[in-house]
Amino acid sequence: MMTTPKCPLCGKLLKLSTIENKGQLHFFACYKCNYQLRMSPRKDFALEYAEKFISKFPPIMRLNQGDNVMVHFSDDTHTVLYTNVDRGKIYLQDVYGNALPYDVDEIKQWPWELEQKGGSND
Ligand SMILES: [Zn+2]
Repeated sequence: MMTTPKCPLCGKLLKLSTIENKGQLHFFACYKCNYQLRMSPRKDFALEYAEKFISKFPPIMRLNQGDNVMVHFSDDTHTVLYTNVDRGKIYLQDVYGNALPYDVDEIKQWPWELEQKGGSND
């Protein structure tokens, strides 16, 4: 159950590619933003390089429309509508359909923290 990481710049899924060079080398790349990450003969290492790369971006840049987050002072899941990275605002929809802007420090749990619940392997 390998989840494909998303490009923190454009939000598209990174693409796992393989080239032949005295054996196979795997790497993740975003062909929209035109970069490729470190290669490895092992797919799991290539994934690790991609995850490390993504983890260096600020959380707000790693959000995508439709992601779920938890905010302070609420036990309800909120869904990302869109983000304004320049202003540091995250527009979230609550379970009642209301849309409100939030600051980064109002986020209690990010999507990748929710997903890791119960199934963490780090
Ligand atoms: Zn991209």
